[in-house]
This record gives sequence, C-alpha cells and structure tokens, in this order.
Amino acid sequence: MRRIRQPGPLPAVGSLLNEAGYLGLQERFPRALVVQAIREQLARERQAGPSGDEERLSAVGALLADWAAPRLRPVINGTGVVLHTNLGRAPLSRAAADAAAEIAAGYSNLELDLETGRRGDRSALVEDLLRRLTGAEAALVVNNNAAAVLLALTALGARREVVVSRGQQVEIGGSFRMPDVMRLSGARMVEVGTTNRTRAADYEAAVGPRTAALLRVHTSNFRVTGFTETPPLDELARVAQRHGILLLDDLGSGALEPIFDEPTVAESLASADLTTFSGDKLLGGPQAGIALGKSATVARLVKHPLARAVRVDKMTLAALEVTLRERLLGRPSPVASMLSATPAELRRRAGFLMVRLEEHGVESSLVEAESAFGGGSLPGRGLPTILLALDGRASRLAAALRRGAPPVLARVEGDRCCIDLRTVLPGEDDALQEAIEAAVLASRDR
Ligand SMILES: *Cc1c(COP(=O)(O)O)cnc(C)c1O
Repeated sequence: MRRIRQPGPLPAVGSLLNEAGYLGLQERFPRALVVQAIREQLARERQAGPSGDEERLSAVGALLADWAAPRLRPVINGTGVVLHTNLGRAPLSRAAADAAAEIAAGYSNLELDLETGRRGDRSALVEDLLRRLTGAEAALVVNNNAAAVLLALTALGARREVVVSRGQQVEIGGSFRMPDVMRLSGARMVEVGTTNRTRAADYEAAVGPRTAALLRVHTSNFRVTGFTETPPLDELARVAQRHGILLLDDLGSGALEPIFDEPTVAESLASADLTTFSGDKLLGGPQAGIALGKSATVARLVKHPLARAVRVDKMTLAALEVTLRERLLGRPSPVASMLSATPAELRRRAGFLMVRLEEHGVESSLVEAESAFGGGSLPGRGLPTILLALDGRASRLAAALRRGAPPVLARVEGDRCCIDLRTVLPGEDDALQEAIEAAVLASRDR
C-alpha cells in the first residue's frame, strides 16, 4: 500500500543533517559530501515533487555510493584483441605491476645517484637496460610515443623541413595525425610520393637547404596492398647521409623480436638516427614513449624544454625497468604469452569452460576464428583461435557481461556472443565462468 504524500515544503538541509539516517551517512562520508548529496536530491524533488522521508534518505545514500564507486576497474578481456587500446593495451607482468605499486607508495632514487649523492636523471635509470637490450647508443623515455615523436620533430625539425611519404600520413587513434603533430612541432612537412608508391628518389628530390630530416612512419594500423612501393630504411639512410640530414623512424609497436613482417627495433636502429616506439605495445610494458638512437641526436631531445613537459613518471619507470629486465632475461611478457598461445591450448581452455558452464545449465559451443593484435599493431594479421560461443541473444548477453562484476568484454561474431580466451589472463577463468553464469541469468530475467 502506498502512502499518499502531501506535497509540502521541502525540508531544510540543516535539519536533515541532524536526523538519525543522515547522521549515519556522515559516519561513512564527509559531512560536506553528504550536504552536496542532500542538495542534489532536494533539487530533484523541486523538479519532480517531494519524496517521502525514507525514499529521500535512500536516494541520498545512493548518490553518495555512486560518487564513491570506483570508476577505473579491472575488466576481463574476452575480445581476443591483445593490445586493446580501450582496455588499456598491454597488461603488465605481476612483477612490473608490483614494482610500480611499491615505488608509487614511497620515496625512491628517482633523480638521485645513490653512489655520489648527486642529482641524477630519471630516464638514465633505464637507459642502460635499453642500450643493452637494443644496442642503441642512447635512450630517452617519455610519456608515450606520440610525445616522443612530437619531441623529436620539435627538437630536431622546428623551423626546418621534414620529408615524409604521402603513404605514411597516418592517423593513430583519432587524435594523433602525423600532419597535425608535424604542425604542432613547428617543422614544415614536405610530402613526397603517392599513397601507394614512394621511392628513395622522391625523398632525394625533396631535400633542400632547409631539410632537417627524413621521417619514416610505420603504417602500423593499416595495410596498403597491391601496387605498392616503399623504400627500405637503409636506402633512406643513404639518402640522409649523402645530404648530411637525419633519418627519423616512428616505429610504433617496437618489436624486439621478429613477429610477422613487423619491422624490428634492431633493424630500425641499424639505419635510423632516432627510433621511437611505444612501451605498451609489443614490448609489453607500461604506457611510455621510447626514443633510441645516436647519442648526439638523443642529447638534443633531452636538452629541449619540451622534454620536461612530456617526462615519464616514477610508476611508469618502475614498471618499465622490470619489463625491460624481463625482456633482457628472456622472460616472455604477458603480451608475448598471449600472442603465442596455440589453438590447441585455447581449445583445451575453452573446452574446460564449456563443460563447467554446462554443469550450471549454460549452453555454449566452440567456434574457430581469429584473434587480432589490436593497438595499431600488425593490421590484417589474425591469429587462429577458438571462441567459446554462448547460446542466447548476443547483444543482450554482451551487455549483461559488460555490466557484470567483474565486467567482461565479449566479442559478437555474427549473431553469437563469444569469448576469446587468448586475452583472458591466466587465473581469470573461474571469475569468467561466474561472470558468464551471472550474465546469462541477468539476460534471461529481462
Ligand atoms: C601507436 C603509434 C603511435 C602512438 O603511440 P602512443 O604510445 O600511443 O602515443 C605513434 N606512431 C605510430 C606509428 C604508432 O603505431
């Protein structure tokens, strides 16, 4: 039975604060926050009409709970997209994540040489590892690869010309377009060649007295096929050398080992004066921009004022240091493990899950498909995989999974809601099973 309310005047904030229910809220939340929530609720009531006392209290409590709820949450990646930009790209190894947490929670020798007691350089903490791992003369770590490219173009090309192929005017993730970055850096872009074909001679013809560098941008997130031509990097290096200008290489993914036809860091360093790539793509580390190259070139980046604006923070450095040490010691990153998972392993894992789900009344089947690299790496390359395809309405199931705890991101293939176990981390299978069961129930209830 519903009480019929008299639409009376709204209570004063001050008097509500002294009522038992609101005093209870003030034990869990700061008084000022409770005041904000009450004000917001009263504002709503002014629009929609007054609420009953209990209704109002629970609405205020719900507002506070919502405001205090975690926003950035771990999710289970069932999409099979290994470097999923929307899901945070590379998952760190446990050791790398622990290092970041430990350094974050205390003081560290971030910019202090413990031997001499003098001021140190934060990027130098990982420079030795980077040099040993890649053979580069010098290294600088910044906030991300977009920042590394911007810094390189600004420090090396501002008020001068940088020659780039029309086929490499790439856009990476909407906000990073090479022509825009070029403009921002103050370097004048000289475009050569066509979308599908550019020759070394095109670069050579564009070099003039104001040319600072040739820039190669790895077309990491798309693939031009058919009648195409791009000069190999060593040919560009010869052009650059003949004219006494620099060769810059935006490598993107930073593959240390050959993987499909992705250019490797070593290949790039053999020809380019400066190579930049992301820390959180194929390297499998935290978000960072890594610039490697000749000492004189890297030094110009280090000295530029913009370097300060794009510097890397201590948590990133801590995670990167561990990531690099793991690569040096030949330990695979979580990204590498996911990329190397075989269809047989994935079939076994998916099969287990299928059986356990069936025991709980959830029907599914196994489907052959392909996983993607994602994150602008290796476009058009799929890895054979086995999907767990759930019975039921795909879009409804996918939404229920996404809204679950933990949220699960599935992949809708045709009209099936599917999970690709390639990107489900070891140890997440039980949580995934429970999340699927809950989502199936939730989507049936509707
Ligand atoms: C991914 C990518 C970038 C941007 O790197 P972030 O680390 O995301 O800033 C720039 N250039 C290329 C070629 C890329 O693939």
